[in-house]
Amino acid sequence: QVVNYAPFTLLPSAVPSALFEEAYAVQQDFNLLVDAISQNKEFLEHTLASTIKVDDFTARLFRIHQQVLEEGLAQSVFLGINRSDYMFDCGVDGTAALKQIEINTIAASFGGLTSRTVAVHRRVLQVLGKPEKASRLLPNNPSKGLALGIAKAWELYGSPSAVVMFLVEEVQRNIFDQRCVENELWNRNIRVIRKRFRDVFEKGSLDSARRLYMDGQEVAVVYYREGYVPENYDQQNWEARLLLERSKAVKCPDIATQLAGTKKVQQELSRPGMLEKLLPSHTEAVMRIRATFAGLYSLDMGEEGDQIVAAAIADPDRFVLKPQREGGGNNLYGEELRQVLEKTRDSPERTSYILMDKIRPQPAMNYLLRAHSPLQASECISELGIFGVYVRQGKEMVMNKAAGHLLRTKAIEHADGGVAAGVAVLDTPYLV
Ligand code: ADP
Ligand code: MG
Repeated sequence: QVVNYAPFTLLPSAVPSALFEEAYAVQQDFNLLVDAISQNKEFLEHTLASTIKVDDFTARLFRIHQQVLEEGLAQSVFLGINRSDYMFDCGVDGTAALKQIEINTIAASFGGLTSRTVAVHRRVLQVLGKPEKASRLLPNNPSKGLALGIAKAWELYGSPSAVVMFLVEEVQRNIFDQRCVENELWNRNIRVIRKRFRDVFEKGSLDSARRLYMDGQEVAVVYYREGYVPENYDQQNWEARLLLERSKAVKCPDIATQLAGTKKVQQELSRPGMLEKLLPSHTEAVMRIRATFAGLYSLDMGEEGDQIVAAAIADPDRFVLKPQREGGGNNLYGEELRQVLEKTRDSPERTSYILMDKIRPQPAMNYLLRAHSPLQASECISELGIFGVYVRQGKEMVMNKAAGHLLRTKAIEHADGGVAAGVAVLDTPYLV
């Protein structure tokens, strides 16, 4: 076992304050939208119809979703923790625009570790003799914001002796990030246990009211930090997932909310009129959300799909090709994108991907600090994430907040990949 420090930039990175504020201002809207999608069975069914024919992982999640709806939901309190990620797209006239990369509705990470990065960068600026700049760095504490959401859901569940269960990976590479959130819960006298799918398979059970028990201990909230990629599941783990989803416990997220975060859903949201349908009578929220969308294109079979495939083969550098996967390192660019599209252009296999306009941020110099790596200046680009937290009881939203931010920075030669993938590092925005 090896313990390393998490990678970080030496210096904070400049972020346009107007775009930073725009990202915060739209977060409650995104919370509402994700929650609305999760309750819209027809939309999910219709949107994912082509995907589940060719993508086995999404299909299995979808089957559990249908199964729990058929049985009737035991869960009545809902907790969403998401992170909406953006880049600053640089237009031809040099102005930057906030463009969403994706929204993560399951296991959105680094809220814990990044609660500590401001202190690191403040110190660096002080050491460099720039105390005035150091004092301008904004405070940021997503750990606390996420924990407040979990605590609210725990309280509404209404059983003071019940625990919060973090559902964690087999190999726990990012445990310290999770501990930051966990500690905030213990500080509020809420007990936390850490278990794997395998433990749930072996020791989890439901009583006649579908209350969830682990080792005889009632579980109020299940917070998934696992379960978002096919590699997380074997047959037993799928059974454990079904048990959790059938239970009365508050799942963060429930399976419908996980599906709401798929790339296919993101692409369908960009169709004209779709946001209006999902969020009727929220005209301004719809406008704020739409302003952050980059061009997104369906590869479903038919004329619309044929046209965009031809355009992408002709000019692959304009686009990013994305499969229905999370966790970084899955997207295709340039020549590789062209080859995959040429191979799949006449087959339904192409519908397991979506196409997206490539966002082009203005690079800036920084130093990326990684354990055991030499220090060198690199041209870098940054991705800003805003954490969203909401709690719904029945039909009523009882909490809807932006809970802090995450800035990740990487060298421009890497087209893809986050901190966990070993590409991006933790950063702090310096508003300009
Ligand atoms: P994942 O679910 O794997 O995190 P993302 O959609 O976040 O998938 O893509 C992974 C990475 O690829 C992002 O962090 C970003 O660096 C890069 N990326 C994704 N979409 C775009 C885009 N439209 N333009 C430029 N870079 C992108
Ligand atoms: Mg991502």
